[in-house]
Amino acid sequence: MICLGIESTAHTFGVGIVTEWGEILANVRNMYSPPKGWGIDPSKAKEHHEKVADKLIEKALEEAHIKKPDLIAVAIGPGLPPCLLVGLKKAKELAKKWGVPIVGVNHAIAHLEIGKFSANFRDPVMLYVSGGNTQIIAFEGGKYRVFGETEDMGIGNLFDSFGRLVGLEFPAGPKIEKLAKKGERYIEIPYSVKGMDVSFAGIYTKLKDTIKKNKLEDVCFSLQETTFAMLVEVTERAMAHTQKNELILTGGVSANKRLQEMCRIMCEERGASFSAPPIELAGDNGAMIAWNGILAKKEATKNYDKIDIKPKWRVDEVKVSWIEDKEQ
Ligand code: AMP
Ligand code: MG
Repeated sequence: MICLGIESTAHTFGVGIVTEWGEILANVRNMYSPPKGWGIDPSKAKEHHEKVADKLIEKALEEAHIKKPDLIAVAIGPGLPPCLLVGLKKAKELAKKWGVPIVGVNHAIAHLEIGKFSANFRDPVMLYVSGGNTQIIAFEGGKYRVFGETEDMGIGNLFDSFGRLVGLEFPAGPKIEKLAKKGERYIEIPYSVKGMDVSFAGIYTKLKDTIKKNKLEDVCFSLQETTFAMLVEVTERAMAHTQKNELILTGGVSANKRLQEMCRIMCEERGASFSAPPIELAGDNGAMIAWNGILAKKEATKNYDKIDIKPKWRVDEVKVSWIEDKEQ
């Protein structure tokens, strides 16, 4: 069985083609970048997706050397409604044309499943850090559950918003990482952990002030050290609580070498395994949606009208038909 997966939850339109053995035949994408000084405008991202969709689908089929897949998977949430609708509309259009079923996939779980597959892990905790999302997720009692998350903005958004403040182009994360390497002095920034959750909005407010009095390199260094320590603390607590000994770090922010290092050290100290999948699988991509489609094929349907977007779809609402309880 071959599955074609479509990702369009936020800024990226991605198309992946994956076999039932997990072989990735194609994984192409195009990302909407807002103009300098701006954040993501959902209607602009939607227009971008509409423009690139057909070419990317064609390119993916060409790379995979197939005429059509046996199944279409599409990320139906969580995400920005205008963007989600582009992906779903395309999925339905293609499914009708090819006469194949569709399965709706949860974007966060797709990140976890591709990470699990690429690391060959059995039952990991995932620290998912992207532009809009910051969550700690693991499988427990028959469902994926959120063990900790941001109370306000995603960590990537914090980095990008801070970047806008100091004139760094979007996405600011990689530039902040570079500057942080030259930082020498730790400046105190609010350490905001509340139970299992973290909060970044107060940090952003504080940074507006901090940046006026300090060197940019030092602020970047302190921003990374503080926010990453917050994330590693709650992740470690989730691992201890669930008694799991594998960690996957994923999402666009997982490209950060310092965050990877802090996670790796924490895992080593616990005797746990750590994996940060390659960035083409860690960022938003179509292959992860296709792979989750293969796993969730029991949920596929040709009754296309039954499938709709779920912009606020929580992981604990997802039926996980591919994991047997005896594994737990
Ligand atoms: P995603 O939403 O998963 O596509 O990830 C995009 C986010 O990752 C943006 O907010 C980027 O600023 C952030 N990002 C990318 N690379 C890095 C990095 N090396 N360090 C920190 N953040 C990063
Ligand atoms: Mg994502």
